[in-house]
Formats: sequence, structure tokens, C-alpha cells
Amino acid sequence: MVSSKVSAPIQVDTTKINVDSVVIPSIRDTFAQDARLDIPNISAPEDKVGVQMREGINKNADWSPAIHYDVRRPNYVIIHHTAQRSLAQTVRTFQLEHTKVSAHYVIGRDGQVVQMLNDYLRSWHAGRSKWGTITDMNSVSLGIELDNNGREPFSEAQIQSLLTLLETLKTKYRIPFTNFIGHSDIAPARKNDPSVLFPWKRLAARGFGVWYDESNLQPVPANFNYVDALRIIGYDVSNLPRTIAAFKRKFIPQDPSAVLSEYDRRVLYNLYQRYY
Ligand SMILES: [Zn+2]
Repeated sequence: MVSSKVSAPIQVDTTKINVDSVVIPSIRDTFAQDARLDIPNISAPEDKVGVQMREGINKNADWSPAIHYDVRRPNYVIIHHTAQRSLAQTVRTFQLEHTKVSAHYVIGRDGQVVQMLNDYLRSWHAGRSKWGTITDMNSVSLGIELDNNGREPFSEAQIQSLLTLLETLKTKYRIPFTNFIGHSDIAPARKNDPSVLFPWKRLAARGFGVWYDESNLQPVPANFNYVDALRIIGYDVSNLPRTIAAFKRKFIPQDPSAVLSEYDRRVLYNLYQRYY
């Protein structure tokens, strides 16, 4: 909100803009200032973004351009496992026309990190999802896919590469530590990635995501509403059994059932008290 002490009406130099005449700088030009970036040939997606940029200008409003702005930053990181057989297969999947899925990064079992989309663009990794009141997770997040079939442990090299990447992204975009979450957190009724074998506790110890104080699990007060607690943490509770299963897959992986035991409630209460 802009305030002004001047009582006279504010004079705004406005023009009706012909949207079709707007020249949008290409992604290549926009990022060319950063000499470190050697951006590969991305002409087709660039055209698509150019069209959307023009559509972002409202024909029914006057136009008086602001000069102070930049591009929106990602504020969440969503971690996935690919459920595919190899890094190469995943990369190919994301480059096929009909699949309509993508991610910003794919990390191989050997720790190789492949970036597939500029961090500032919206990849299609989250699908129908919700976290808190955010219903368009793709617009606010980076997607990281780990090459893993969903039944095998994550290799040490892969986790090391992930931790290094997360550190870079957290610092660069100032992402809050609570905002490093999994696909199944934001889509519990549809998704189970990353699997129970993913080391969330280890990530939390490094400042990515949350974990509970295992040595101090207090009895839960009689008036503790576990559904509200799950909702306040961020979970969509419209399918409660699936949400409980997602919560347990992450925090109590030794018992991935859809029922909250006394111990599970203590874990939930501890997390709720600690962070929310
Ligand atoms: Zn996923």
C-alpha cells in the first residue's frame, strides 16, 4: 500500500496497452547478465513463457509501469522419488510430450545432479496438492526427484548430493526450514513418495524439515485435537486415514499404518509444540 500526504488526486500517466505489441525479454537475455549461466537451447518453452507473460497484462486496466520488481522466488522444496529405473529414464520421461510432468532437479543413485528447469520457472511436479491454504504448490516450490524405485534404500552419494543442493537452494532463496517437505505431505491421498526409507530425520538435523524430540515425548493433554494439529502443520485432512498414513510414513516409518497410537500422538504433539 502506498500512502501519500498530498490531498490532490494522484496523477497517473496511463496508457491503454496493446498487449500484442509487448516485447518480453527472453529467458536467455534475462539471465545472460549472470555470466556463469550457459543456458542451453530452450526456445520452445521460452516461447510458451513469452505468451504467458503477455497474458499477465490485463487489457481492461490502464498501464503505468512500475520500475521496482524482480521475479518471484521459490519458497518450498518438494522431495520425490521417481519410482523409475534410472536417471536416464526419468530425464527422458520429463522430455516426452505426452507425460506432462517435470521437475527442477533429478538426482541419480551415484549422486549426479541434473537440472532440467530454471529455478524461477514453474515445473509440473506437485500435481493436485495442498499444504496449509496453498493449493498451487507448483507455483511456489522447487521439485527434486530422487532416482529410486520406491522399495530400495537411498544411496549415500545421492543423499550427500541432495544435502548439498538443499543447502544451496535454502541460502539462495531464503527458504524456511519448515518448507522442505515431501510429495506425500502435500498429496497424501495420491502419493507415497519419498518412501519410508527416506532419511527425514537426517535432513532435519541439517536444517531441512522438522523432527521431534525423541527423548522428551510428553503425554498428550486430554484436550489435544490431533486433526487440528495435523491441519495446522499443513496437512490436508479431508482424507484423514491417508493423511495419518503419510504423517507416519515420514515420522514413524517403522509403523506405517493409518491409525495414530498413543506413541504417534505424542510424536505429533511434540512436533506441534516445537514448531507450530
Ligand atoms: Zn512425487
